[in-house]
Amino acid sequence: MITRSSALLQRPDRETQPQPLPIQARWQTQLARAIRDPRELCRRLGLDEAWWPGAEAGHALFEVRVPEAYLARIRPGDPSDPLLRQVLPLAEEAVTMAGYVADPLAEVEHAPAPGLIHKYAGRVLLIASPACAVNCRYCFRRHFPYEENAPSRAQWESTLDYLRGDPSLHEAILSGGDPLAASDRQLAWLVERLEGISHLKRLRIHTRLPVVIPDRIDDALLGWLGATRLQKVMVLHINHANEIDEAVMAACRRLSAAGVTLLNQSVLLRGVNDDVGTLCTLSERLFEAGILPYYLHVLDPVAGAAHFDVVDEEARKLVAGLREVLPGFLMPRLVREIPGEASKTPL
Ligand SMILES: *Cc1c(COP(=O)(O)O)cnc(C)c1O
Ligand code: SF4
Repeated sequence: MITRSSALLQRPDRETQPQPLPIQARWQTQLARAIRDPRELCRRLGLDEAWWPGAEAGHALFEVRVPEAYLARIRPGDPSDPLLRQVLPLAEEAVTMAGYVADPLAEVEHAPAPGLIHKYAGRVLLIASPACAVNCRYCFRRHFPYEENAPSRAQWESTLDYLRGDPSLHEAILSGGDPLAASDRQLAWLVERLEGISHLKRLRIHTRLPVVIPDRIDDALLGWLGATRLQKVMVLHINHANEIDEAVMAACRRLSAAGVTLLNQSVLLRGVNDDVGTLCTLSERLFEAGILPYYLHVLDPVAGAAHFDVVDEEARKLVAGLREVLPGFLMPRLVREIPGEASKTPL
C-alpha cells in the first residue's frame, strides 16, 4: 500500500497538477504524501536553518513523518508549538541517558505468537500494522522490531489460533504502529476472523490516524466497523486541544454514530501539555468531540525521548490541580506502564 502510493511522490508535476486518484482512498494518498524530509518540515513551518542539523540527527534515529492535515494545525514560525514539538526531531534525541532503553516495556518478551502481545488478563494486543501515519518523537515503540512482527496471512492464522485456544480472552485490541494504517480489506479480513471467535466480546482499536488524517474515517472503514457483532471501542491518542479541529470533530461524530465508544489516551509531555490549563482545555475539547479521557501516561523511558520527561512529583501535582477544575468524568487516570505488572499502574 505505502510502497505503491509512494510512486506518486516522484511525480514531478504533483504540485501543479493534482491527480484525481480513483483507485486509492483519499487517506492513503495523504499518508503517502506525508512529509518525510526533516528540512522540508522546517522550511514549511518557517523554522530557520539553525534547526536543520538537529532535525537531521533525530531523523537518522527515527524518521520524520508528518501528514499535511496535521501540519496545517501547527503555527508557522513557532518552534515551541505543542504540535510541532511532538513531530520535530531534535539533537537531544541522540543523547544517551541512564535508564532510557530501546524496549522500555519489555514487549518483546510477551510475544507468544507473531504480531501478538499478551500481558494482561482477558485482552490481547495485535500488531495490525507496522506503520504509523505520524512519527511521534516520544513514541515508546520507536525501536520496536516491526519487521519481526508483521505477520503474513498464514502467520495470522496461527496468531488467531492462540486467541481461539484461550476462552478467557474477551477483547482483541488492534494496535501497531497504527492499525488503521492497514487497508480496509486487510482489517475487514482480520475482524471477520475475530468475530468468529465466540468468546470474544469486544474489539478495541488504538489509533492516532483519525486525529492526524481525519479522512481515514471514510465509508469503507465504517462499513466493516459498523457491521461487526463485537462491541467497539476506539482509544484515540490526542495530547493537546489544538489537535482537535473541525475535521477531527466530524470524524468522531461519524464513529459515534456507528456505535463506537470513544476514549482518549495522552502522554504527559514536557513542553506540550505539562500544565493544568492545557490539560483542562484538552479534556473539555475531547468531550466536545464525544470522547472521554481514559489514560494520561507518564513517559515511557525510551531512548531518545528523555527531554519530554515530567517527573512523577510534578505529574501528581498537575493531576491534583486538574481535579480541582474538572468534573470527575473528564479526569484521565494518571498511569505508568511497569513491565511485569498485571495492569497499568496508577501513580
Ligand atoms: C496497555 C495495554 C493493554 C490495555 O490495557 P488497558 O488497561 O485495558 O487499557 C493491553 N495489552 C497490552 C500489551 C498493553 O500494553
Ligand atoms: S502514532 Fe502512536 S505508535 Fe505511532 S509513532 Fe505516534 S505514538 Fe508511536
